[in-house]
Amino acid sequence: MTLIVENPAGLDHLTPAGHPECVARLAAVTQALAAPEFADLDRRTAPLADEASLLLGHPQSHIDSVRAAIPQAGRTALDPDTWATPGSWDAAVAGVGGCLAAVDAVLAGRATNAFVATRPPGHHAERDRAMGFCLFSTIAIAARHALTVHGLSRVAVVDFDVHHGNGTQDVLWDEPRALFISSHQSPLYPGTGAASERGGSNNVLNLPLAPGSDGAAMRRAYQAQGFDRLRAFQPDLILISAGFDAHADDPLANLMWTTEDFAWITRELCDIADELCGGRVVSTLEGGYDLPALAASVAVHVTELKERGA
Ligand SMILES: [Zn+2]
Repeated sequence: MTLIVENPAGLDHLTPAGHPECVARLAAVTQALAAPEFADLDRRTAPLADEASLLLGHPQSHIDSVRAAIPQAGRTALDPDTWATPGSWDAAVAGVGGCLAAVDAVLAGRATNAFVATRPPGHHAERDRAMGFCLFSTIAIAARHALTVHGLSRVAVVDFDVHHGNGTQDVLWDEPRALFISSHQSPLYPGTGAASERGGSNNVLNLPLAPGSDGAAMRRAYQAQGFDRLRAFQPDLILISAGFDAHADDPLANLMWTTEDFAWITRELCDIADELCGGRVVSTLEGGYDLPALAASVAVHVTELKERGA
């Protein structure tokens, strides 16, 4: 069974007019997942993560500084791109809690795989810095949760968002039980993610993709390096940072992927999960800023998860 974790608190995290990371993104995803073909999926609402969970990815000082920055009214800039409004704490912390609940459900066998429909995203948040629309490093916290709370031996994170997952890389850099694989456009924000960045114990694999390149280039990169590394690592769980901004229609980047490319990478990762770890996959939403492309891409992604989770 496939589980959908929804985060309605994500609708209360507000960004200025014209900001690409907007409430309408989550509404578009929610609407896509309301389609009849997803009516039989399990659903639950994301709970707030506790502070001990946030501490798996961040020092107390970062948690305290984000909390202190949340305004009573109006909005505060955490960096030039990253905003906090009164609802931002619950939105971001429930995003983490939702991802942890998805991991708990999959590891308990209550679901085969899961998708977490949430915003703000998380993969740019470093250990001690909110940035790039992200407050907490959601997927890295989920990886640490699977390792420390559930006692898994190895967890892999695959990030196919068009931007490098610098925050995930930062949090997991010295975590040999986690493998982080990121494909992303380069050069592009945030500027990190060179192939030479390999992690504290060769546990990071960056797959930079040239601006203008299409899904075939992405497929070659995973087939040449990504999938072999994933198989060699033998994870007990595969986490996906599912950003859909590599789509050709996305306004923030210049890759030329189609919705079928997102279906393909999802299928391939589910194949590897079937082979290595009982199909256990937890995917969480990162970027994706063209609303029709985002909705269509989430739909094919969840359709592939559903076929495996049946
Ligand atoms: Zn992105």
